[in-house]
Amino acid sequence: MCSLSESVDLFKADLHSHSTCSDGSLTPRELIDLACLGGLHGFSITDHDTIEAYKEAVPYAKEKGILLGSGVEFSCEHRRKSIHVLGYDFSLDHPALNEYCLKQQHRRIARNKEILDRLRRLRIIIEESDIQKVHRNPLTVGRPHIAAVMLSKGYVRSIQEAFQSYLGDYGCCFVLGQPFSVAEAIEVIHQAGGKAFLAHPNLYADGSLIDEVLSFGFDGIECYYGRFSQGKEKRWLEIAKKKNLLISGGSDFHGAAKPHVFLGCSYVNRDVFFSIFTSMK
Ligand code: AMP
Ligand code: ZN
Ligand code: FE
Ligand code: FE
Repeated sequence: MCSLSESVDLFKADLHSHSTCSDGSLTPRELIDLACLGGLHGFSITDHDTIEAYKEAVPYAKEKGILLGSGVEFSCEHRRKSIHVLGYDFSLDHPALNEYCLKQQHRRIARNKEILDRLRRLRIIIEESDIQKVHRNPLTVGRPHIAAVMLSKGYVRSIQEAFQSYLGDYGCCFVLGQPFSVAEAIEVIHQAGGKAFLAHPNLYADGSLIDEVLSFGFDGIECYYGRFSQGKEKRWLEIAKKKNLLISGGSDFHGAAKPHVFLGCSYVNRDVFFSIFTSMK
């Protein structure tokens, strides 16, 4: 059992992680086990375009005594730049959100086909059946799965090389796919009673782009993030304060797919957790 500390100072919640339901390497149960082992009191699984993890995670988190808040990460686009939108504290069975997940998953299927076509033109032959061996659900295949197959077939020497040379944002085989607007993702999250956060703002180089997307009705901004230095956190905290936005934070843990990022390396305290998960108060 996780022990829920009485002390405000000891409360830690990691609000950004991925399970095997998207491109993480731990199952939802394994993630919760690791979160408990790491002394986390609050947690959210923010899989790409799916909330499937919650079927097993909700009862298991209850059993383990860890506070699990609903979460998801949607891939959107603004001015042809890829923008990730985090949703929290929404109702897991809301039809609009579930339908939107499906729409995003179908975008993924079409986009992945195009990525494989581009790779094929470079004589890198990856079949959909190869990908099935590393990730069973075709609706939630992501670039890390394609990278893993490239590695296993000897086309690259590391996952990093696959991203750097082919799959990374705006690399030669990167395909954004039929774009979804940031505003639509925010709208759907709101319809489902949730709050929308701009994910890892530091990964978007263009400051004016951030100002623009923040005007679309975000509730908050992810200020604490696995790979941000402290100086970077300060910048986002100041922006959140100035724009009267909530703050969030988490590691973006993926397990083996990103071995340098540890679960709980970024986290929020009790006040921040309950400012987001108001339905759990
Ligand atoms: P997708 O959802 O298919 O667009 O893939 C996005 C995911 O790819 C991210 O959430 C990361 O897990 C992974 N990713 C993106 N860029 C890199 C990179 N340079 N190195 C390793 N993984 C990456
Ligand atoms: Zn990912
Ligand atoms: Fe992301
Ligand atoms: Fe993520």
